[in-house]
Amino acid sequence: MVSLSKTLCPYCGVGCGLEVLPPAQPGKPVARDSEGNPVWQARGDRDHPSSKGMVCVKGATIGESLSKSRLKHPMLRDSLDEPFRRVSWDEALDRVAERIQAAHSTFGPDAICMYGSGQLQTEDYYIAQKLLKGCLGTNNFDANSRLCMSSAVAGYIQSFGSDGPPCCYDDLERTDCAFLIGTNTAECHPIVFNRLRKHHKRTRKVKLIVVDPRRTPTAEAADLHLAIEPGTDIDLLNGIAHLLLRWGFIDPVFVDECTRGFEKFAEVISHYPPERVARTCGLRIDDVVQAARYWARAERVLSLWSMGMNQSSEGTAKVRTLINLHLMTGDIGKPGAGPFSLTGQPNAMGGREAGGLAHILPGYRLVKNPQHRAEVERGWGLPPGSISPIPGRPAWDMITGLETGEVQVFWVAATNPAVSMPDIERTKSALRRSPFTVYQDAYYPTETADYAHVLLPAAQWSEKTGAMTNSERVVTLCPTFRQPPGEARPDWEIMVEVGRRLGFTEQFDLANSAAVYAEFVALTRDRLCDCTGLSHARLAAEGPIQWPCPKGMTAAENQQSKRLYEDLRFKTGDGRAQFAAFHSRGLAEPTDSGYPLVLTTGRLYGHWHTQTRTGRIDKILKLHPEPELEIHPRDAADWGIEDKTWVEAQSRRGAARFRAKVTRAIAPGTVFVPMHWGALWAEQSEANALTHPESCPASLQPELKACAVCVVPAGAE
Ligand code: SF4
Repeated sequence: MVSLSKTLCPYCGVGCGLEVLPPAQPGKPVARDSEGNPVWQARGDRDHPSSKGMVCVKGATIGESLSKSRLKHPMLRDSLDEPFRRVSWDEALDRVAERIQAAHSTFGPDAICMYGSGQLQTEDYYIAQKLLKGCLGTNNFDANSRLCMSSAVAGYIQSFGSDGPPCCYDDLERTDCAFLIGTNTAECHPIVFNRLRKHHKRTRKVKLIVVDPRRTPTAEAADLHLAIEPGTDIDLLNGIAHLLLRWGFIDPVFVDECTRGFEKFAEVISHYPPERVARTCGLRIDDVVQAARYWARAERVLSLWSMGMNQSSEGTAKVRTLINLHLMTGDIGKPGAGPFSLTGQPNAMGGREAGGLAHILPGYRLVKNPQHRAEVERGWGLPPGSISPIPGRPAWDMITGLETGEVQVFWVAATNPAVSMPDIERTKSALRRSPFTVYQDAYYPTETADYAHVLLPAAQWSEKTGAMTNSERVVTLCPTFRQPPGEARPDWEIMVEVGRRLGFTEQFDLANSAAVYAEFVALTRDRLCDCTGLSHARLAAEGPIQWPCPKGMTAAENQQSKRLYEDLRFKTGDGRAQFAAFHSRGLAEPTDSGYPLVLTTGRLYGHWHTQTRTGRIDKILKLHPEPELEIHPRDAADWGIEDKTWVEAQSRRGAARFRAKVTRAIAPGTVFVPMHWGALWAEQSEANALTHPESCPASLQPELKACAVCVVPAGAE
């Protein structure tokens, strides 16, 4: 029987619309995965406004990942030395509630942490905030978005007064110049890149600039590829600003009426003539000048970025320095222009709206703001003072809290920190010391499950109903169209059960996910991310809708408000955007004679994060069977490394083995490895065995993109 469900791809933040068909279709044999489970078929949804029917290999093969290696029943053990035993939901939930209660009484609320994920739906995120920040009184909820987008969040807040990407995907087709920095969009956000690439090919005057130390498929398509040395982004951006100011290509009216801080910024960029910038960044002077010329000649410049900017110990400064360029040229709040962060995960945006980081609250509110706390306490029916004014532990601090014993309960939901955290041996050692770890996930085994005391089986995408928001603020309802396996339950429902056991029956008297969503949107009233016009019923009836969508806004009106800040009023106290003035501090761990190469990490086209899904899809495994280390021929010759042989990369924290790929696509002095392989998939090939946790002081995002290494033939001293 043909029964088609429209939903959203649950992989990356592009947020493509999918149509999913059940395995049994008239006249067709039922496809089965390698475990014999029937496979649901997915294809692009032509009606989805973000993707218009396009889909990449991950979205197209999602059906194959849904049934394999699923965690189906709650499991418990008293210590990590014991095997798990199957228990009832009641026994598992009682144990979690007891341990939370005990930690709360003995050590205080901040001994409890939850670490979530951009894979969670908005309803899951929202309930987690209510449980941790409201009922338990700790802001110790953080998500893996901390490793991904928190520098963009901090940059937007500091420059514009609020989080929220100002642009939309239609801008990809309306820009005169796309400036891509720290993003391999062609592989990591393929459908965004398809839209941009078509526009670039169709309209010859459109320029595409790509800034990346690697010659990626994205860089291959560029008019100008600037292969900067890692860590020199701020120098380049200040250098472009220097030339724009020198040539008079600024928007003085916008600068005068809509911004603050231009004088200090102008003083800083006066120190960045192209000769100095070229020398620092390892570029030709002509290329620096050409980048500025492209920017100057374009009426509308759209800049796109992702982890290459964010995953840095000066990530927020980089983001703000990029935003400076838009402020000085007035390239914001109009079609085809603006700074546009490309979110990594499918619902990291929804997580931010629901308050899913340790320093924020639902509705783009801040933990430190007393008025914001009071508004949320009222919304949650909690007494004044219930929410702590102190931001909670960011992701890495949860790991250090386990080391010191300050964290007594560590609850992980829908993420795999035993692969994705920096300095992975230190992370694993901290996880081994955890007095009580709850692991709530759809899959088993995973690397993190090895460190858990309780396993809670979660229903995943397709088995629960909830909303997700993509990078352009479009909210899509993802409906239930399959039964969860075994006893798996939606994440929000599991957290509600724990909340009720802790005595918060009134706060968690919620019948279904539509009721949870209704409560969440009420807390966005009059905020930048106003979603009060949205409900599960409306999203089901009308399809995806972009926020802001206040109550009463019609679909036609919604179509007319695709960009933020079109009125050129920002969310700062005086409505003006704030220039930043930064000099670069460079990499947190510079190279030296012992570790002479910069290692950078990233994603591959087919794989997703730690492979909990894509590692179970045959087609993707064939596409990327093993992790490779890219090294320039000159460095390979210096270190006696031959193409396709095994090498060992060593940093101050550990070592990992990869197959060498000798290529001119990487600049001399830099090597690249993918971040997807954990111990389950390729023992001793974990990129994060090498990385360090030094973080941006403003966003607290670790510098996963760069560390100092040496590379030697495997087995060599
Ligand atoms: Fe899914 Fe991202 Fe691919 Fe779109 S581009 S199909 S959202 S993985």
